[in-house]
Amino acid sequence: MIPPRSLTLLSVLLLIGASVVAAQTERPAEPASSDKPAANSPSAQSGTSPKSEKQQPEKVVRTEKEWRKTLTREQFRVLRGKGTEAPFRNKYDRHFKPGTYACAACGQELFASDTKFNSGCGWPAFYTTMAGDRINLTPDVSNGMIRTEVTCARCDSHLGHVFRDAPQTPTGNRFCINSVSLKFIPASAQQKRAKQERRKAGRKPPAETKPETDKGSSESDDSGS
Ligand SMILES: [Zn+2]
Repeated sequence: MIPPRSLTLLSVLLLIGASVVAAQTERPAEPASSDKPAANSPSAQSGTSPKSEKQQPEKVVRTEKEWRKTLTREQFRVLRGKGTEAPFRNKYDRHFKPGTYACAACGQELFASDTKFNSGCGWPAFYTTMAGDRINLTPDVSNGMIRTEVTCARCDSHLGHVFRDAPQTPTGNRFCINSVSLKFIPASAQQKRAKQERRKAGRKPPAETKPETDKGSSESDDSGS
């Protein structure tokens, strides 16, 4: 027989599991199939479904000593120690400039500014993540609360929690993320970086290139004479 207390615990755990699944399925561009979050299996290797080209981020693994070197004390406490920063008195709570928010530990871009909303909770809130397997969701029953922890899929750093309490948003989800876990990249900086990457890749800007042979064959014939 199962004692009543165990039953309560069981139902609690089931509840968390359900909320994790709900949060997962609300993410866009994700097939609502039975597959579990990225934490479970290297799905990139399995290749069972033809459409699953899940971009598993390359893992960033560092020792505690190395993390301490690259992060501030507060960043280390929150990101690596699953801490929580103070509400309202943090960097991005009321920050609504266009751009993206990256993981402060490994630099992986996680959230877009157009999915950020003012939840009034005192921390930055997003209703979804950027497309792809950028985060992992894990049930968290610490501190006497039932929550779903959000971690960076690339470096496993703690970001915050996700709650199903935002019916005013397209997904109903509130990704409640610590400012200190994020690094904002302004849209202008992103454009600049994209330009630099294009140049690095050796691609000439499209404005100055001559018409391609397959597009205007007659023109290229004329130029040959
Ligand atoms: Zn990260």
